[in-house]
Amino acid sequence: MTTAATHQLYIDGAWVAPQAGGSLPTSNPATEEVIGHIARGQAADVDRAVDAARRALNEGDWPALTPAQRAGLLYRLADLVEAHAEELADIETRDNGMPRAMARFASVGGTIQVLRYNAGWATKLTGETSQPSQPGEWLAYTAREPVGVAGLIVPWNVPLVMAASKVSAAVAAGCTVVLKPAELTSLSAIRFVELVHEAGFPPGVINLVTGTGTEAGQALVDHPGVDKISFTGSTAVGKSIIRASSGNLKRVTLELGGKSPSFIFEDADLAAAGAAAAQSIFLNSGQICAAASRLYVQASVFDAVVEAIVERAQAMRVGDGMAADTQMGPLISAGQLDRVAGFVREAVADGAEVLTGGSPLAGPGHFMPPTVLVGTTHDMTAVREEIFGPVLCVMPFADDAELDELARVGNDSNYGLSATIWTRDISRAHRLARRLQAGTVRINTSTGMDNNMPYGGYKQSGWGRENGRAGVEAFTEIKSVFVGL
Ligand code: NAP
Ligand code: MG
Repeated sequence: MTTAATHQLYIDGAWVAPQAGGSLPTSNPATEEVIGHIARGQAADVDRAVDAARRALNEGDWPALTPAQRAGLLYRLADLVEAHAEELADIETRDNGMPRAMARFASVGGTIQVLRYNAGWATKLTGETSQPSQPGEWLAYTAREPVGVAGLIVPWNVPLVMAASKVSAAVAAGCTVVLKPAELTSLSAIRFVELVHEAGFPPGVINLVTGTGTEAGQALVDHPGVDKISFTGSTAVGKSIIRASSGNLKRVTLELGGKSPSFIFEDADLAAAGAAAAQSIFLNSGQICAAASRLYVQASVFDAVVEAIVERAQAMRVGDGMAADTQMGPLISAGQLDRVAGFVREAVADGAEVLTGGSPLAGPGHFMPPTVLVGTTHDMTAVREEIFGPVLCVMPFADDAELDELARVGNDSNYGLSATIWTRDISRAHRLARRLQAGTVRINTSTGMDNNMPYGGYKQSGWGRENGRAGVEAFTEIKSVFVGL
């Protein structure tokens, strides 16, 4: 694939032009150069893709494949991604801006792993037998069936692995899919789907419609032929998807934003805690839904921890992700840079203090330096809203604060995606973990994602879970069968 090319849609096993024509430029956020044009898919193209997915679900080779054969296709796809890993990582970095090493290990490496992980589930989905209390003699069992045609909508922050994770979970469950990547970062999904074709998936099982959220995305969520939407992105669009899905009561899984708290107690391994706090908020320029963006530090160690984080922030090499020594790339777009800088400006106007960073770097490229704010309070937008940029708000808590009070502060958010606790007191760690409303709690680690652990949010961070058995089962319906013996 040459990234300067104009790409097409992939529908029913073939690359086709959008019916109304039209393309959208995609650029490198580090250089602002246009690096390709994606097809501008619209409602008519979504219709064709959904029809193809419906036919593939009901007719032809796909429904006749055994679970092992479905797994085999996913393993073959994983091998192909592995064989093209360097090329895919180049595409991901150029289109999204993330450091090349992150693209290789997290996005492409993560893709290879999740394809193999979900391939394994194809042969392991089971129902249950149970004993009804009705009079008589019974065989009663449940069966898991594919939910049907799934619309998969993914964001721009870690584009390839998000697409691969949804595609593989759906396909492992026996669904057929229409994938809609983010307009800003569709190139790795396009190359991935070329490999889908090479792997030999039957036509119509995996379809790709690129385009904008308001055209292609909206058409997919409105479509009466789509049985399930799996969405990752903003809470606002998530809510609009729920409304749009009410037409045919589509099943909906939502992985939305976060404003995740992190607590560091004085007895913690402070060096590790400070390093993890910086890593969590500066990774991928803060464009990570689970970024620990609110940090609460016990007063006795506040200055020392803040100083260590500021030191790390100032030492980070910000630049083009293709440069070997870059640790933090640009933000995805000029709009995102304005948005992030706007949160900081507003916080400062409301009394926050910038310890490092704070305003955009000179272009070209949408660069925001690692930024640390203190003096922030819970009535500031920067503390309440997901910034989705490298901006950390650090706040102290009293040395004698009760756990209930800390939990109240941590839970004082519409979001509930993740929370982090650093302490050597194991009882305190688990008591606080119990009190926090978060889909994932990390204790003495910044790691909180694994293919084999369910991932998702409490409150307005989402509906349902991805990853693990739950992630594949989210693409199934349960059927109860009663047999009178
Ligand atoms: P977004 O608008 O929610 O975009 C996510 C995906 O939904 C993209 O593929 C987008 O398409 C599509 N989309 C947009 N409007 C749609 C609609 N009406 N119907 C169906 N699909 C639609 O997110 P964003 O504007 O790119 O980012 C805004 C904020 O969302 C960020 O600043 C961040 O706070 C949050 N966010 C969270 C995550 C996460 O991982 N939880 C990821 C990304 C963003 P197009 O992009 O092609 O228009
Ligand atoms: Mg781009």
